[in-house]
Amino acid sequence: MNNGSKHILLIEDNPGDADLIRLRLVEAHSDIAVSCVSRLSTGLASMIVETPAMVLLDLNLPDSHGAETYRTVLQKAPGVPVVVLSGQDDEDLAAKAVHQGVQDYLVKGSFDSKQLAHAMRYAIERQALVTSLDMSRRQQLQFKNDFLSHVSHELRTPLTCIHQFVSLMLDGLSGELNHDQREHLDTVFRSVNQLRAMITDLLEATRAESGKITIEPQCIAIGDVVRQSIAMLLSTAQAKGIGLEVGLDLRTPLVYADANRILQVLTNLIENGIKFTPPDGSVMVKVRLMEADADNVYVSVSDTGRGIDPETKNMIFERLYQDPNSIDDSRKGLGLGLYISKELIQLHGGRLWVESQLSHGSTFTFTLPAFSLAKFLLPVITDQGRIRESISVITLELSARSTPFSGNWLDIRRQCVQVLQPCILRDKDMILPALGDSGLGQNLFIVISADEHGARVVANRILEQLERSEQMKCCMFNISSIGLKLPPKVSMEPVDKLVKEVADRLMEMSAALLRRQSSAN
Ligand code: ADP
Repeated sequence: MNNGSKHILLIEDNPGDADLIRLRLVEAHSDIAVSCVSRLSTGLASMIVETPAMVLLDLNLPDSHGAETYRTVLQKAPGVPVVVLSGQDDEDLAAKAVHQGVQDYLVKGSFDSKQLAHAMRYAIERQALVTSLDMSRRQQLQFKNDFLSHVSHELRTPLTCIHQFVSLMLDGLSGELNHDQREHLDTVFRSVNQLRAMITDLLEATRAESGKITIEPQCIAIGDVVRQSIAMLLSTAQAKGIGLEVGLDLRTPLVYADANRILQVLTNLIENGIKFTPPDGSVMVKVRLMEADADNVYVSVSDTGRGIDPETKNMIFERLYQDPNSIDDSRKGLGLGLYISKELIQLHGGRLWVESQLSHGSTFTFTLPAFSLAKFLLPVITDQGRIRESISVITLELSARSTPFSGNWLDIRRQCVQVLQPCILRDKDMILPALGDSGLGQNLFIVISADEHGARVVANRILEQLERSEQMKCCMFNISSIGLKLPPKVSMEPVDKLVKEVADRLMEMSAALLRRQSSAN
């Protein structure tokens, strides 16, 4: 029998039925062990101790009834073949169970030992087949992913070379071009860019499939990212005679997201909007707050285009899906854009969905978590439901050692965080995400669960490490620490309120620092 077990689990609460089935089982297979339980919960517990070769399952038990019974078993013990034992009156339900993953059913009182043996053999073989199909499907997918990822990587190098040389020629660096030559090279250039975008999509999709896409969330102003995406695509929209508009709710809080990834999602949605909207139409990007869901910010891209029919709507987020009717001269994708976008939004803890009406347009909406510093701080600055006795803040300002500065502040911040991590205690201290400076991150705030003296010791350690670090050689550092004055320990204030006060003070400190820096420049 499967998994080498010769053990059958019978879940049946009627002692008469249980005895009869046991008898038939022994007649059919003299060498198998049968254990019988009368409750579903006992059956599930016994399956954890020993996986049976199969389960014979009555649907109406003292602790579970009908479809819920087999669904629970299928969910808790996937891979174990199940044969349902039905009465005359619930045969329809048993037949339905077969469509939902149960291997077979027998009507109580109407089978002999031969039929039981046959049903059991069939159930076990069918389950083995399902398991092996599933495994080979997964292997195939893995193979396809590895292949795509390898090919895409290999294609990138020659393409980069073509891109470089074509740009060089277009810039006139290899001699004057006549009108026709320039036009031809422009076409080559556009096609190379298109190929590069497709290869990037392929690589991203294979990474998403194997869970390797990463995001680096920061505290960002979503309005800035929306404006950036509009600036990037305005000329494309104008060239097609499509209006590109933006509507921002000014009360929108900062969100916790990776600005580059959200820009990628937004450009994909806006490009699609432009692509599937006829000239004279419009695409509108909106950022909204919902009263009923204050923890999230809603970003939507609406178009007045061709719309999506209800059946297709469920498929467009699938990998490689393209609506066959929509393939026209302007098609440029591989059907991966929405798949990647959805993965990216889910990685941020958000949702992406579409509402659409055929011939009237579509609205794609995604949510992003509103940034709450208090939520971030809660596990670090509280202990056993109370605020810690001492909390201090270290402020680290990074500035360029020489000008003009060609470094990338996001990369520098990343390196700086790596240097800082070993200097702090992970469960009691925290490096805050970049606050309020559009994610550039030249200022770092480190919350330390210690008094002012303790914070000074940590600040000195940090400075020593930064000055030793090769990667941070391009920066100068200004570091200071301050103890936060908290209400006396006896305070009866609820902990959430205290944490919120600390968060507000930190936001104020960040804003004051930014004001000071901008007035100094
Ligand atoms: P691609 O990268 O090929 O554009 P996507 O994953 O972005 O692929 O889109 C998949 C399919 O979803 C498109 O082929 C199209 O049929 C449909 N679709 C996407 N956006 C829109 C839109 N704004 N209006 C109508 N159909 C759309």
